[in-house]
Amino acid sequence: MTKKLPEKSGIPEACPHCGTKLSPWQQVLLATDRALVCRECWYRIILDVNPEPQKKDSEKLQNKGN
Ligand SMILES: [Zn+2]
Repeated sequence: MTKKLPEKSGIPEACPHCGTKLSPWQQVLLATDRALVCRECWYRIILDVNPEPQKKDSEKLQNKGN
């Protein structure tokens, strides 16, 4: 397979803390759980992806309404 995958939704290829490259499997885990602990430095990598920030506002309004 020589096809290079495009950047998938901002998933880092390496640990932002120590720079250790993440394995494809680790990247899958990160994409699934949106969080992954680096095996080298134990830094918790968290995907700060907010696809719909407005949704939180509506949830807040709902809570306030109740
Ligand atoms: Zn690390």
